[in-house]
Amino acid sequence: MITISKSKFVAGSQCLKKLHFEFYRKDLKAEVTTEQQARFDAGHEIGKLAQQVFPNGKDATEAFGDNWGLAIKRTADWLTSGIETIYEASFSHSGGFAALDILHHTPTERWAIEVKSSAELKDYYFTDAAFQYWVLDKCGVKPDRFFLMHLNKSYTKSGNINPNELFVLTDITDQILQLQEETGNNLERFQTMLIKQEEPSISIGKHCNAMPYECTYKHHCWKHIPENSVFDLYNGGKKSWSFFEKGITQIAEIPEGESLSKRQELQVNGIKFNQAYKDKEGITNFVNSLKYPLYFFDFETIAPAIPILDETRPFEKVPFQYSLHILTAPNAPVVHKAFLANPDDFNTAGSTEPRLQLLNQLMNDIGPDGSILVYYAPFEVGVLNQLKRAFPKYTDFINGILSRIVDLHEPFNKGLFYLPAMGKSASIKDVLPALAPEFSYANLEINNGNLASTLFLEKVRGIFIGNWNTTHRHLLDYCERDTLGMVVLYEKLCEETE
Ligand code: SF4
Repeated sequence: MITISKSKFVAGSQCLKKLHFEFYRKDLKAEVTTEQQARFDAGHEIGKLAQQVFPNGKDATEAFGDNWGLAIKRTADWLTSGIETIYEASFSHSGGFAALDILHHTPTERWAIEVKSSAELKDYYFTDAAFQYWVLDKCGVKPDRFFLMHLNKSYTKSGNINPNELFVLTDITDQILQLQEETGNNLERFQTMLIKQEEPSISIGKHCNAMPYECTYKHHCWKHIPENSVFDLYNGGKKSWSFFEKGITQIAEIPEGESLSKRQELQVNGIKFNQAYKDKEGITNFVNSLKYPLYFFDFETIAPAIPILDETRPFEKVPFQYSLHILTAPNAPVVHKAFLANPDDFNTAGSTEPRLQLLNQLMNDIGPDGSILVYYAPFEVGVLNQLKRAFPKYTDFINGILSRIVDLHEPFNKGLFYLPAMGKSASIKDVLPALAPEFSYANLEINNGNLASTLFLEKVRGIFIGNWNTTHRHLLDYCERDTLGMVVLYEKLCEETE
Protein backbone atom coordinates (compact mmCIF):
# COMPACT_ATOMS: atom_id res chain seq x y z
CA MET A 1 0.00 0.00 0.00
CA ILE A 2 1.35 3.41 -0.96
CA THR A 3 0.74 6.31 1.44
CA ILE A 4 -1.29 9.03 -0.25
CA SER A 5 -1.53 12.27 1.69
CA LYS A 6 -4.11 14.99 1.19
CA SER A 7 -1.88 17.02 -1.15
CA LYS A 8 -1.09 13.93 -3.23
CA PHE A 9 -4.79 13.07 -3.39
CA VAL A 10 -5.56 16.57 -4.67
CA ALA A 11 -2.72 16.21 -7.22
CA GLY A 12 -4.25 12.92 -8.44
CA SER A 13 -7.67 14.56 -8.69
CA GLN A 14 -6.16 17.19 -10.98
CA CYS A 15 -4.24 14.71 -13.14
CA LEU A 16 -3.06 11.10 -12.75
CA LYS A 17 0.18 11.92 -14.50
CA LYS A 18 0.88 14.65 -11.95
CA LEU A 19 0.36 12.13 -9.14
CA HIS A 20 2.77 9.73 -10.86
CA PHE A 21 5.37 12.51 -11.16
CA GLU A 22 4.96 13.39 -7.47
CA PHE A 23 6.07 9.86 -6.56
CA TYR A 24 8.42 8.77 -9.30
CA ARG A 25 9.78 11.86 -11.06
CA LYS A 26 10.94 14.12 -8.28
CA ASP A 27 13.70 15.20 -10.67
CA LEU A 28 11.04 17.09 -12.66
CA LYS A 29 9.80 19.12 -9.74
CA ALA A 30 10.44 22.82 -10.27
CA GLU A 31 12.42 24.61 -7.58
CA VAL A 32 10.38 26.44 -4.99
CA THR A 33 10.47 30.17 -5.77
CA THR A 34 10.92 32.92 -3.18
CA GLU A 35 7.26 33.86 -3.65
CA GLN A 36 6.04 30.24 -3.19
CA GLN A 37 8.16 29.79 -0.06
CA ALA A 38 6.68 33.00 1.33
CA ARG A 39 3.17 31.59 0.72
CA PHE A 40 4.05 28.32 2.53
CA ASP A 41 5.46 30.28 5.49
CA ALA A 42 2.36 32.47 5.64
CA GLY A 43 0.17 29.34 5.56
CA HIS A 44 2.09 27.91 8.51
CA GLU A 45 1.70 31.14 10.46
CA ILE A 46 -2.05 31.20 9.73
CA GLY A 47 -2.38 27.59 10.88
CA LYS A 48 -0.77 28.45 14.22
CA LEU A 49 -3.01 31.50 14.67
CA ALA A 50 -6.12 29.44 13.86
CA GLN A 51 -5.28 27.09 16.74
CA GLN A 52 -5.95 30.01 19.11
CA VAL A 53 -9.65 29.82 18.20
CA PHE A 54 -9.60 26.32 19.73
CA PRO A 55 -6.95 26.84 22.39
CA ASN A 56 -5.12 24.43 24.68
CA GLY A 57 -5.14 21.58 22.19
CA LYS A 58 -2.41 18.97 21.91
CA ASP A 59 -0.32 18.72 18.73
CA ALA A 60 -0.03 15.15 17.46
CA THR A 61 2.90 15.93 15.18
CA GLU A 62 4.91 18.10 17.55
CA ALA A 63 8.43 16.70 18.02
CA PHE A 64 7.66 13.83 15.60
CA GLY A 65 8.18 15.76 12.38
CA ASP A 66 7.28 13.46 9.50
CA ASN A 67 7.06 10.33 11.62
CA TRP A 68 3.39 9.82 10.83
CA GLY A 69 3.23 6.41 12.54
CA LEU A 70 3.93 8.03 15.91
CA ALA A 71 1.50 10.88 15.20
CA ILE A 72 -1.24 8.35 14.37
CA LYS A 73 -0.53 6.41 17.57
CA ARG A 74 -0.53 9.57 19.68
CA THR A 75 -3.83 10.72 18.13
CA ALA A 76 -5.43 7.35 18.89
CA ASP A 77 -4.20 7.46 22.50
CA TRP A 78 -5.51 10.99 23.02
CA LEU A 79 -8.89 10.11 21.56
CA THR A 80 -9.10 7.21 23.99
CA SER A 81 -8.22 9.44 26.90
CA GLY A 82 -10.84 12.04 25.87
CA ILE A 83 -8.61 14.96 24.85
CA GLU A 84 -10.95 17.73 23.69
CA THR A 85 -8.83 19.35 20.97
CA ILE A 86 -6.08 17.77 18.87
CA TYR A 87 -4.02 19.67 16.30
CA GLU A 88 -2.71 17.76 13.27
CA ALA A 89 -4.85 14.79 14.32
CA SER A 90 -3.44 11.95 12.21
CA PHE A 91 -5.20 8.96 10.67
CA SER A 92 -4.55 6.39 8.00
CA HIS A 93 -6.76 3.95 6.12
CA SER A 94 -6.27 2.00 2.85
CA GLY A 95 -3.12 4.03 2.15
CA GLY A 96 -4.92 7.35 2.62
CA PHE A 97 -3.20 9.50 5.23
CA ALA A 98 -4.96 12.49 6.80
CA ALA A 99 -3.47 15.01 9.22
CA LEU A 100 -6.42 17.17 10.16
CA ASP A 101 -5.59 20.72 11.24
CA ILE A 102 -7.95 20.71 14.23
CA LEU A 103 -10.11 17.93 15.67
CA HIS A 104 -12.36 19.40 18.34
CA HIS A 105 -15.00 17.89 20.61
CA THR A 106 -17.89 19.95 21.92
CA PRO A 107 -20.02 18.39 24.68
CA THR A 108 -22.26 16.86 21.99
CA GLU A 109 -20.37 16.81 18.67
CA ARG A 110 -17.05 16.00 17.00
CA TRP A 111 -15.84 18.74 14.68
CA ALA A 112 -13.24 18.36 11.95
CA ILE A 113 -11.67 21.67 10.94
CA GLU A 114 -9.38 22.37 8.01
CA VAL A 115 -7.65 25.77 8.03
CA LYS A 116 -7.22 27.63 4.73
CA SER A 117 -5.03 30.68 4.18
CA SER A 118 -7.53 32.23 1.85
CA ALA A 119 -10.59 34.44 2.10
CA GLU A 120 -12.43 32.56 -0.68
CA LEU A 121 -13.62 28.96 -0.80
CA LYS A 122 -11.92 27.25 -3.73
CA ASP A 123 -13.30 24.15 -5.43
CA TYR A 124 -10.39 21.92 -4.53
CA TYR A 125 -10.91 22.58 -0.82
CA PHE A 126 -13.96 20.31 -1.07
CA THR A 127 -11.88 17.56 -2.67
CA ASP A 128 -9.30 17.70 0.07
CA ALA A 129 -11.88 17.99 2.87
CA ALA A 130 -13.84 15.03 1.43
CA PHE A 131 -10.63 13.01 1.51
CA GLN A 132 -9.94 13.93 5.15
CA TYR A 133 -13.51 13.06 6.11
CA TRP A 134 -13.30 9.71 4.28
CA VAL A 135 -10.12 8.69 6.14
CA LEU A 136 -11.49 9.74 9.54
CA ASP A 137 -14.76 7.95 8.90
CA LYS A 138 -13.01 4.72 7.88
CA CYS A 139 -10.88 4.96 11.03
CA GLY A 140 -14.05 5.05 13.11
CA VAL A 141 -13.72 8.74 14.01
CA LYS A 142 -16.60 10.10 11.92
CA PRO A 143 -16.95 13.88 12.33
CA ASP A 144 -20.45 15.18 13.09
CA ARG A 145 -19.57 18.37 11.27
CA PHE A 146 -16.78 19.36 8.92
CA PHE A 147 -15.71 23.00 8.73
CA LEU A 148 -13.43 25.01 6.54
CA MET A 149 -11.85 27.73 8.63
CA HIS A 150 -10.80 30.58 6.38
CA LEU A 151 -9.97 34.25 6.60
CA ASN A 152 -12.77 36.74 7.05
CA LYS A 153 -12.23 39.25 4.24
CA SER A 154 -14.20 41.96 6.05
CA TYR A 155 -12.18 41.71 9.26
CA THR A 156 -10.47 45.05 9.90
CA LYS A 157 -7.52 45.01 12.24
CA SER A 158 -7.67 47.29 15.25
CA GLY A 159 -4.96 46.68 17.81
CA ASN A 160 -3.95 43.07 18.38
CA ILE A 161 -5.25 40.47 15.95
CA ASN A 162 -8.39 38.80 17.25
CA PRO A 163 -8.33 35.25 15.84
CA ASN A 164 -12.01 34.76 16.67
CA GLU A 165 -12.87 37.60 14.30
CA LEU A 166 -10.10 37.01 11.76
CA PHE A 167 -11.38 33.52 10.92
CA VAL A 168 -14.75 32.30 9.69
CA LEU A 169 -16.02 28.74 10.04
CA THR A 170 -18.02 27.43 7.09
CA ASP A 171 -19.86 24.16 7.57
CA ILE A 172 -19.37 22.03 4.43
CA THR A 173 -20.54 18.70 5.86
CA ASP A 174 -23.42 18.29 3.39
CA GLN A 175 -21.26 19.00 0.34
CA ILE A 176 -18.50 16.58 1.26
CA LEU A 177 -20.88 13.78 2.24
CA GLN A 178 -21.93 13.74 -1.40
CA LEU A 179 -18.30 13.18 -2.44
CA GLN A 180 -17.60 10.18 -0.21
CA GLU A 181 -18.21 7.38 -2.72
CA GLU A 182 -16.20 9.17 -5.40
CA THR A 183 -13.38 9.80 -2.89
CA GLY A 184 -13.09 6.11 -1.99
CA ASN A 185 -13.12 5.11 -5.66
CA ASN A 186 -10.46 7.67 -6.50
CA LEU A 187 -8.17 6.53 -3.71
CA GLU A 188 -8.41 2.96 -5.02
CA ARG A 189 -7.77 4.15 -8.59
CA PHE A 190 -4.72 6.16 -7.49
CA GLN A 191 -3.31 3.18 -5.57
CA THR A 192 -3.73 0.89 -8.59
CA MET A 193 -2.00 3.40 -10.86
CA LEU A 194 0.88 4.05 -8.46
CA ILE A 195 1.56 0.36 -7.78
CA LYS A 196 2.14 -0.17 -11.54
CA GLN A 197 4.80 2.58 -11.51
CA GLU A 198 4.01 3.33 -15.15
CA GLU A 199 3.60 6.89 -16.35
CA PRO A 200 -0.04 7.27 -17.43
CA SER A 201 -0.63 8.48 -20.94
CA ILE A 202 -2.37 11.81 -20.45
CA SER A 203 -2.33 14.71 -22.89
CA ILE A 204 -2.12 18.32 -21.91
CA GLY A 205 -5.51 19.93 -21.37
CA LYS A 206 -7.47 22.45 -19.41
CA HIS A 207 -6.72 20.40 -16.30
CA CYS A 208 -3.10 21.67 -16.48
CA ASN A 209 -4.27 25.14 -15.49
CA ALA A 210 -7.17 24.08 -13.29
CA MET A 211 -7.59 22.98 -9.72
CA PRO A 212 -5.77 23.65 -7.49
CA TYR A 213 -3.48 25.88 -9.57
CA GLU A 214 -1.32 25.82 -12.67
CA CYS A 215 0.52 22.50 -12.69
CA THR A 216 4.17 22.61 -11.69
CA TYR A 217 5.05 20.06 -14.39
CA LYS A 218 4.01 22.21 -17.34
CA HIS A 219 7.66 22.87 -18.17
CA HIS A 220 7.90 19.13 -18.91
CA CYS A 221 4.52 18.19 -20.41
CA TRP A 222 4.23 21.35 -22.51
CA LYS A 223 7.74 21.37 -23.92
CA HIS A 224 6.48 20.36 -27.38
CA ILE A 225 4.30 23.49 -27.51
CA PRO A 226 6.22 26.03 -29.60
CA GLU A 227 6.71 29.74 -28.99
CA ASN A 228 3.86 31.83 -30.38
CA SER A 229 1.45 28.96 -29.90
CA VAL A 230 -2.31 29.45 -29.75
CA PHE A 231 -1.90 29.52 -25.96
CA ASP A 232 0.00 32.78 -26.38
CA LEU A 233 -3.01 34.41 -28.01
CA TYR A 234 -3.94 37.63 -26.18
CA ASN A 235 -6.71 36.76 -23.68
CA GLY A 236 -7.00 33.47 -25.58
CA GLY A 237 -8.83 31.41 -22.94
CA LYS A 238 -11.38 28.99 -24.45
CA LYS A 239 -10.55 30.16 -27.97
CA SER A 240 -6.96 28.93 -27.61
CA TRP A 241 -8.19 25.47 -26.56
CA SER A 242 -10.71 25.41 -29.35
CA PHE A 243 -7.93 26.04 -31.92
CA PHE A 244 -5.70 23.43 -30.28
CA GLU A 245 -8.47 20.84 -30.30
CA LYS A 246 -8.91 21.49 -34.03
CA GLY A 247 -5.20 20.72 -34.56
CA ILE A 248 -4.06 24.34 -34.80
CA THR A 249 -1.04 24.73 -32.52
CA GLN A 250 0.66 27.88 -33.78
CA ILE A 251 -0.80 31.34 -34.11
CA ALA A 252 0.66 31.45 -37.61
CA GLU A 253 -1.67 28.57 -38.56
CA ILE A 254 -4.89 30.35 -37.55
CA PRO A 255 -6.90 30.57 -40.77
CA GLU A 256 -8.34 33.80 -42.19
CA GLY A 257 -11.89 34.58 -41.16
CA GLU A 258 -11.70 33.24 -37.59
CA SER A 259 -13.52 35.38 -35.05
CA LEU A 260 -10.81 37.28 -33.16
CA SER A 261 -10.75 40.41 -31.01
CA LYS A 262 -8.99 43.45 -32.45
CA ARG A 263 -5.95 42.93 -30.21
CA GLN A 264 -5.81 39.23 -31.18
CA GLU A 265 -5.98 40.14 -34.86
CA LEU A 266 -3.06 42.52 -34.44
CA GLN A 267 -1.06 39.77 -32.80
CA VAL A 268 -1.88 37.26 -35.56
CA ASN A 269 -0.89 39.76 -38.26
CA GLY A 270 2.26 40.61 -36.31
CA ILE A 271 3.30 36.96 -36.30
CA LYS A 272 2.19 36.11 -39.86
CA PHE A 273 3.38 39.24 -41.65
CA ASN A 274 5.59 41.02 -39.06
CA GLN A 275 3.02 43.78 -39.31
CA ALA A 276 2.87 46.69 -36.83
CA TYR A 277 -0.27 48.74 -36.28
CA LYS A 278 -0.64 52.39 -35.30
CA ASP A 279 -3.98 54.14 -35.05
CA LYS A 280 -2.69 57.68 -35.49
CA GLU A 281 -6.03 59.33 -34.73
CA GLY A 282 -6.64 57.24 -31.60
CA ILE A 283 -3.09 57.84 -30.35
CA THR A 284 -3.39 61.59 -31.03
CA ASN A 285 -6.68 61.79 -29.17
CA PHE A 286 -5.13 59.99 -26.22
CA VAL A 287 -2.04 62.26 -26.13
CA ASN A 288 -4.14 65.41 -26.56
CA SER A 289 -6.33 64.43 -23.62
CA LEU A 290 -3.34 64.80 -21.27
CA LYS A 291 -2.65 68.00 -19.37
CA TYR A 292 0.76 69.23 -18.22
CA PRO A 293 2.43 68.86 -15.81
CA LEU A 294 2.40 65.12 -16.38
CA TYR A 295 2.92 62.80 -13.43
CA PHE A 296 3.96 59.21 -14.10
CA PHE A 297 3.06 57.26 -11.00
CA ASP A 298 3.34 53.72 -9.65
CA PHE A 299 2.71 52.04 -6.27
CA GLU A 300 4.31 48.88 -4.94
CA THR A 301 2.26 47.05 -2.34
CA ILE A 302 2.26 44.16 0.09
CA ALA A 303 -0.91 42.15 0.66
CA PRO A 304 -0.41 40.17 3.88
CA ALA A 305 -2.98 37.48 4.65
CA ILE A 306 -2.86 38.48 8.32
CA PRO A 307 -3.23 42.27 8.42
CA ILE A 308 -0.22 44.07 9.87
CA LEU A 309 -1.39 47.67 10.07
CA ASP A 310 -4.54 48.87 11.81
CA GLU A 311 -7.44 49.65 9.48
CA THR A 312 -6.36 47.02 6.97
CA ARG A 313 -8.06 43.75 6.03
CA PRO A 314 -6.75 40.31 5.02
CA PHE A 315 -5.00 40.51 1.64
CA GLU A 316 -5.56 44.26 1.38
CA LYS A 317 -2.98 45.87 -0.87
CA VAL A 318 -0.97 48.16 1.38
CA PRO A 319 1.40 50.55 -0.40
CA PHE A 320 4.98 50.65 0.84
CA GLN A 321 6.60 52.45 -2.09
CA TYR A 322 5.94 54.77 -4.97
CA SER A 323 7.88 56.23 -7.82
CA LEU A 324 6.91 59.44 -9.53
CA HIS A 325 8.40 61.03 -12.63
CA ILE A 326 7.27 64.56 -13.43
CA LEU A 327 7.33 66.24 -16.83
CA THR A 328 6.35 69.88 -16.41
CA ALA A 329 6.33 70.72 -20.12
CA PRO A 330 7.25 69.13 -23.46
CA ASN A 331 11.02 68.65 -23.66
CA ALA A 332 11.51 69.80 -20.04
CA PRO A 333 13.92 67.73 -17.94
CA VAL A 334 12.21 64.86 -16.14
CA VAL A 335 12.18 65.12 -12.34
CA HIS A 336 12.08 62.00 -10.20
CA LYS A 337 10.59 61.55 -6.71
CA ALA A 338 10.37 58.35 -4.73
CA PHE A 339 9.08 57.02 -1.45
CA LEU A 340 10.12 53.76 0.16
CA ALA A 341 8.84 53.01 3.65
CA ASN A 342 11.02 51.86 6.49
CA PRO A 343 9.91 48.24 7.08
CA ASP A 344 10.27 48.77 10.85
CA ASP A 345 7.48 51.34 10.73
CA PHE A 346 5.01 48.56 9.90
CA ASN A 347 5.53 47.16 13.37
CA THR A 348 5.18 50.37 15.35
CA ALA A 349 1.88 52.19 15.71
CA GLY A 350 1.48 55.98 15.74
CA SER A 351 2.94 58.87 13.80
CA THR A 352 5.37 56.63 11.92
CA GLU A 353 2.40 54.93 10.21
CA PRO A 354 3.98 54.22 6.82
CA ARG A 355 0.84 55.00 4.82
CA LEU A 356 0.59 58.41 6.49
CA GLN A 357 4.23 59.09 5.68
CA LEU A 358 3.51 58.06 2.11
CA LEU A 359 0.44 60.28 1.84
CA ASN A 360 2.21 63.26 3.37
CA GLN A 361 5.14 62.96 1.00
CA LEU A 362 2.80 62.46 -1.93
CA MET A 363 1.01 65.71 -1.03
CA ASN A 364 4.36 67.45 -1.40
CA ASP A 365 5.46 65.61 -4.52
CA ILE A 366 2.31 65.81 -6.59
CA GLY A 367 0.89 69.22 -7.57
CA PRO A 368 -2.80 70.17 -7.81
CA ASP A 369 -3.01 70.17 -11.61
CA GLY A 370 -2.03 67.95 -14.49
CA SER A 371 -2.68 64.39 -15.59
CA ILE A 372 -1.51 61.50 -13.46
CA LEU A 373 -0.53 58.58 -15.67
CA VAL A 374 -0.49 55.07 -14.25
CA TYR A 375 -0.12 51.75 -16.03
CA TYR A 376 -3.22 49.61 -15.38
CA ALA A 377 -5.37 52.05 -13.41
CA PRO A 378 -7.60 49.58 -11.46
CA PHE A 379 -4.59 48.77 -9.29
CA GLU A 380 -3.69 52.34 -8.28
CA VAL A 381 -7.36 53.32 -8.02
CA GLY A 382 -8.02 50.38 -5.68
CA VAL A 383 -5.06 51.25 -3.44
CA LEU A 384 -6.07 54.94 -3.29
CA ASN A 385 -9.65 54.06 -2.38
CA GLN A 386 -8.40 51.85 0.45
CA LEU A 387 -6.20 54.70 1.71
CA LYS A 388 -9.23 56.97 1.63
CA ARG A 389 -11.19 54.50 3.73
CA ALA A 390 -8.38 54.24 6.30
CA PHE A 391 -7.64 58.00 6.42
CA PRO A 392 -10.83 59.97 5.75
CA LYS A 393 -9.12 63.30 6.38
CA TYR A 394 -7.18 62.76 3.12
CA THR A 395 -10.40 62.25 1.14
CA ASP A 396 -10.24 65.53 -0.80
CA PHE A 397 -6.59 65.04 -1.70
CA ILE A 398 -7.15 61.44 -2.82
CA ASN A 399 -10.32 62.31 -4.74
CA GLY A 400 -8.31 64.99 -6.53
CA ILE A 401 -5.75 62.40 -7.60
CA LEU A 402 -8.41 59.89 -8.63
CA SER A 403 -10.10 62.47 -10.86
CA ARG A 404 -6.85 63.09 -12.75
CA ILE A 405 -5.75 59.49 -13.34
CA VAL A 406 -5.24 58.40 -16.94
CA ASP A 407 -4.41 54.81 -17.83
CA LEU A 408 -1.35 54.55 -20.10
CA HIS A 409 -2.17 50.86 -20.51
CA GLU A 410 -5.20 51.72 -22.64
CA PRO A 411 -3.55 52.61 -25.97
CA PHE A 412 -1.73 49.28 -25.86
CA ASN A 413 -4.56 47.23 -24.40
CA LYS A 414 -7.04 48.61 -26.93
CA GLY A 415 -4.61 47.97 -29.76
CA LEU A 416 -4.08 51.59 -30.80
CA PHE A 417 -0.38 50.85 -31.01
CA TYR A 418 0.98 47.37 -31.64
CA LEU A 419 4.40 46.05 -32.51
CA PRO A 420 4.99 42.32 -33.15
CA ALA A 421 7.62 42.31 -30.38
CA MET A 422 4.85 43.04 -27.84
CA GLY A 423 3.59 39.52 -28.46
CA LYS A 424 0.71 38.37 -26.34
CA SER A 425 0.85 40.99 -23.66
CA ALA A 426 0.00 44.63 -23.08
CA SER A 427 1.88 44.56 -19.78
CA ILE A 428 4.49 47.27 -19.39
CA LYS A 429 7.07 44.47 -18.98
CA ASP A 430 6.44 43.50 -22.63
CA VAL A 431 5.39 46.78 -24.20
CA LEU A 432 8.38 48.76 -22.93
CA PRO A 433 11.17 46.50 -24.25
CA ALA A 434 9.32 46.25 -27.59
CA LEU A 435 9.35 50.03 -27.99
CA ALA A 436 12.62 50.78 -26.22
CA PRO A 437 14.80 47.65 -25.88
CA GLU A 438 17.33 49.56 -23.73
CA PHE A 439 14.58 49.79 -21.06
CA SER A 440 14.27 46.05 -20.56
CA TYR A 441 13.76 44.78 -17.01
CA ALA A 442 16.25 41.96 -17.59
CA ASN A 443 19.19 43.80 -16.03
CA LEU A 444 17.40 44.49 -12.75
CA GLU A 445 17.92 42.35 -9.64
CA ILE A 446 14.26 42.84 -8.75
CA ASN A 447 12.31 42.70 -11.98
CA ASN A 448 8.71 42.10 -10.98
CA GLY A 449 6.22 43.43 -8.47
CA ASN A 450 5.62 40.05 -6.79
CA LEU A 451 9.27 39.71 -5.88
CA ALA A 452 9.44 43.32 -4.65
CA SER A 453 6.40 42.70 -2.49
CA THR A 454 7.67 39.35 -1.14
CA LEU A 455 11.06 40.77 -0.14
CA PHE A 456 9.58 43.81 1.56
CA LEU A 457 7.05 41.69 3.45
CA GLU A 458 9.82 39.32 4.56
CA LYS A 459 11.68 42.30 5.98
CA VAL A 460 8.54 43.53 7.78
CA ARG A 461 7.97 40.07 9.24
CA GLY A 462 11.60 39.79 10.37
CA ILE A 463 12.43 36.80 8.16
CA PHE A 464 14.40 38.57 5.42
CA ILE A 465 17.80 37.02 4.74
CA GLY A 466 20.40 39.10 2.93
CA ASN A 467 21.70 42.63 2.79
CA TRP A 468 18.77 45.00 3.22
CA ASN A 469 20.75 48.07 2.03
CA THR A 470 21.31 46.32 -1.29
CA THR A 471 17.71 45.17 -1.56
CA HIS A 472 16.53 48.67 -0.63
CA ARG A 473 18.50 50.01 -3.63
CA HIS A 474 17.11 47.28 -5.89
CA LEU A 475 13.56 48.14 -4.83
CA LEU A 476 14.11 51.79 -5.68
CA ASP A 477 15.65 50.84 -9.05
CA TYR A 478 12.73 48.57 -9.91
CA CYS A 479 9.95 51.03 -9.14
CA GLU A 480 11.84 53.86 -10.84
CA ARG A 481 12.14 51.73 -14.00
CA ASP A 482 8.36 51.39 -14.15
CA THR A 483 7.68 55.13 -14.10
CA LEU A 484 10.67 56.13 -16.23
CA GLY A 485 9.46 53.48 -18.66
CA MET A 486 6.08 55.18 -18.69
CA VAL A 487 7.75 58.46 -19.65
CA VAL A 488 9.43 56.64 -22.53
CA LEU A 489 6.12 55.11 -23.63
CA TYR A 490 4.49 58.53 -23.54
CA GLU A 491 7.29 59.98 -25.70
CA LYS A 492 6.90 57.10 -28.16
CA LEU A 493 3.17 57.80 -28.38
CA CYS A 494 3.91 61.52 -28.98
CA GLU A 495 6.24 60.61 -31.86
CA GLU A 496 3.34 58.84 -33.55
CA THR A 497 1.25 62.01 -33.53
CA GLU A 498 3.77 64.01 -35.56
S1 SF4 B 1 1.23 19.55 -16.96
FE1 SF4 B 1 -0.83 18.79 -17.33
S2 SF4 B 1 -0.59 16.74 -18.16
FE2 SF4 B 1 1.36 17.30 -17.21
S3 SF4 B 1 1.24 16.50 -15.15
FE3 SF4 B 1 0.53 18.59 -15.06
S4 SF4 B 1 -1.68 18.50 -15.28
FE4 SF4 B 1 -0.86 16.52 -15.96
